[in-house]
Amino acid sequence: MTARVIDGKAVAAGVRGRVKAGVAEFVAARGGDVPGLATVLVGDDPASQIYVGSKRKQTEEVGMRSFHHELGAATPTEELLDLIASLNHDETVDGILVQLPLPEQVDQDAAIAAIDPAKDVDGLTAANAGLLAQGRPGLVPCTPLGVIELLRHAGAELEGAETVVLGRSILVGRPLATLLLGANATVTICHSRTRDLASVCARADILVAAVGAPGLVTAEMVKPGATVIDVGTNRTDDGLVGDVDFESVCSVAGAITPVPGGVGPMTIAMLLANTLKAALGRPH
Ligand code: NAP
Repeated sequence: MTARVIDGKAVAAGVRGRVKAGVAEFVAARGGDVPGLATVLVGDDPASQIYVGSKRKQTEEVGMRSFHHELGAATPTEELLDLIASLNHDETVDGILVQLPLPEQVDQDAAIAAIDPAKDVDGLTAANAGLLAQGRPGLVPCTPLGVIELLRHAGAELEGAETVVLGRSILVGRPLATLLLGANATVTICHSRTRDLASVCARADILVAAVGAPGLVTAEMVKPGATVIDVGTNRTDDGLVGDVDFESVCSVAGAITPVPGGVGPMTIAMLLANTLKAALGRPH
């Protein structure tokens, strides 16, 4: 078998098209009022600069306003908290994205907690994580939302499916597991202490790897015909690679996402969708 490759770029373009239409409708209905996303970059990490650059560009491409704030690498926590407080009060800002990771001296938990949950387009505040855990409406982290969108696009049946999520971070693994549960999948979460990872993975109809370990998932760990989603983004001497050994897994899986061009483009597309959702939720 050779797996069907799920084209994340194409699915993301479709999401952006829908957001663009939604933004146009919003502007027409609200007398020219435009949704806005504020990005905050602390320090000069080159990968973060590229990510934020793409987010700003795509924000403008769908017709939303992009407000960008850059703080120096030595910025103390208090200064970042002051900026977040001012963005919380700024009526032109619907979404606030603080690019992670933050420099070591900044208290990341305090920064996330300072974001108004109604503007928390990364879905990382305890309020939004709690709403998700309870299956109530809120803002959901972008990467897991993107994974669900890819699975639906690929025609994967979630209801009753055996799903295995590798990784339990608050950014990816945990919220994804909760979304899958909400879609009536049977969910197993694996992590660094999981025993016999290979046999747990081999049960999965849907296997999602979000670890940060190049090539961790090999063909022996994949059930024939399974759908495999690779969230991993690892910079190696061979370029950007995922957590899945793409070549070998392609011969077993039914469908698979590539790296790059799989989950990555979806994350930004869902950020735009979340910003529009936050704007629609704003009182007017
Ligand atoms: P993270 O916070 O470092 O979490 C990694 C998770 O993997 C942890 O739960 C860890 O377990 C688990 N793990 C580590 N080694 C393992 C092993 N050998 N077997 C099984 N589980 C293992 O990372 P993250 O933020 O979730 O990101 C994961 C990957 O996704 C990274 O490569 C990141 O760059 C990528 N990512 C991509 C996007 C995108 O848009 N494409 C977005 C976000 C993240 P413990 O909890 O036990 O330590």
